[in-house]
Amino acid sequence: MGMRVEISRSLVDELLRAAAASPGAEICGLLLGGAGRIEAILPAANVAADPAHRFEIDPATLFAAHRAARAGGPRIIGHYHSHPTGSAEPSPRDAEQAIGGEYWLLLGGGAARLFVATRVGAIAGRFEAVAMAH
Ligand SMILES: [Zn+2]
Repeated sequence: MGMRVEISRSLVDELLRAAAASPGAEICGLLLGGAGRIEAILPAANVAADPAHRFEIDPATLFAAHRAARAGGPRIIGHYHSHPTGSAEPSPRDAEQAIGGEYWLLLGGGAARLFVATRVGAIAGRFEAVAMAH
C-alpha cells in the first residue's frame, strides 16, 4: 500500500526550475495544502550558515505561514529543499531533522521526489516514499 499525494505538474516544474537556478546553494521552502494534496509552495530564504550543504528555512517565513494558517489560510504540511550536487534522496542529515508526519520534497539531479517522515522508515531510517499524482 503506497501513499499518494496530489501536486500539479506545474508546481513540480516550478520547483525543478528554482533548484536548477541555484547550483551553489540549497533552496528551501514550505509545502502548503491539506490531506493528500500539496496546493501551493512558499519559497523561503535558506538562512543556514553553510547553504551549499545545509538548509534552514527563514524563521520569519515560517512564523508568517503559521500565523496565516491560524487565520484560516492553507496548512503547512511539510517543506522542500534541494541538493545542488546530490540526488533527490534524503541525506543522513535530513534524517536527523525529520519530524514524523511531515512531507519532505527533495530536489536533486534534475528530479523531484516526495517522502513522508516516519518514526521508523525504509529510507534513511526515517522516511517512506510517497507517489506524486498529477
Ligand atoms: Zn537534504
